[in-house]
Amino acid sequence: MGKLFDRTYQTIFYLASPFLPWREPEIVHSYLRLVKVINEKKCQKALIVIDQNLVNIGIHTSLVEALTTNNIGYVVFSDVTPNPTINQVEKALNIYKEEECDMLIGFGGGSPIDVAKAVGARVVRPKKSLEAMGGILKVGKKLPLLIAIPTTAGTGSEATLAAVITNSETKRKYAINDHALIPHYAVLLPELTYGLPPLLTATTGMDALTHAIEAYTNNGGTKFTNKKAINAVKLIMANIEKVYDNPEYTEGRLRMQIAAYDAGVAFTRNYVGYVHALSHPLSAYYGLAHGYVNALILPFMLKEYGKKIHKKLAKLARLSGVSEGVNDEEIANNFIKRIEDLNKKFGIKDIIPEIDVNDIPSLAKYANKEARPLYPTPKIYKTSELEAFYHRLKGDN
Ligand SMILES: [Zn+2]
Repeated sequence: MGKLFDRTYQTIFYLASPFLPWREPEIVHSYLRLVKVINEKKCQKALIVIDQNLVNIGIHTSLVEALTTNNIGYVVFSDVTPNPTINQVEKALNIYKEEECDMLIGFGGGSPIDVAKAVGARVVRPKKSLEAMGGILKVGKKLPLLIAIPTTAGTGSEATLAAVITNSETKRKYAINDHALIPHYAVLLPELTYGLPPLLTATTGMDALTHAIEAYTNNGGTKFTNKKAINAVKLIMANIEKVYDNPEYTEGRLRMQIAAYDAGVAFTRNYVGYVHALSHPLSAYYGLAHGYVNALILPFMLKEYGKKIHKKLAKLARLSGVSEGVNDEEIANNFIKRIEDLNKKFGIKDIIPEIDVNDIPSLAKYANKEARPLYPTPKIYKTSELEAFYHRLKGDN
């Protein structure tokens, strides 16, 4: 299929978007308020989906206390791994049914929140497998009360309509995209991110920055998505170093959470771009951390888009107060330089030696499949061009 096909496809999505059932989670800043919401909804028992590391540090203790003192039941499911699997979702679903739960709480990074979403999809579509719900708009039924409590400021899963689940046998990933999966409530508590190690603070924050910049530089942004993306970029540029240096800086942590959330709202409507398309296969092949690879590829790809995005980048730069230069091109390049400087400070490299040259053709094939025709990227590349990108990212030339 040619580039014209891609653009037509994207236009159809763009035109359809106002008619889709978009909504935003309601943001809650305390467990007290959350408990009130649960009582209003007359829900009685929560399945808390979380990972074992978080259970070990007891990050959910205050939540559990708040539920208990208000006579709200709960059961904890903690068998969730970084690339959550269909088996994990099915196990969680069984517990949800056996324990007669009537609400879901996804507590953690992207994975537990994604599992909670997927369990919700299976609750309302008991006869449809997760594989069958992979793709776009295949759930189409209201989920039970779904609450997201993020412990990183990065994935934005608390604001998005997607859940990514892996089939552990075939290693295939299924992205379920449906408006029904947008959480009803997002609980943003800065103290939940205090314990994040500095590198994770940096890489998850850079992931959120990537979401915002990709959504903003893509074609087809609306006034609403642009506003959200700009706000996220501003907040991240002003706070990411501060929280890296000072993990318990409450205001900064909260601003990073709001940024990750806003970036999530922006990209779930206007998509990500080639940074994500190139980075996903690298995580799948070499187990490289999503945020780390994105941070590394972001300046590379922004330079690659070149003058197509100078104007937009210059605008982001001006609004975030890093606008040195006499024209858009210079300001945009200085903005990219600023991202490279952040990476340096965080110990994020600019090449990926793990890339095996023999894998490059298939990496490029997967990246191309992810990007096209869906992502309304500033430029469209051929698979052979993506192969060249991987060579350069490896550090070959
Ligand atoms: Zn991402």
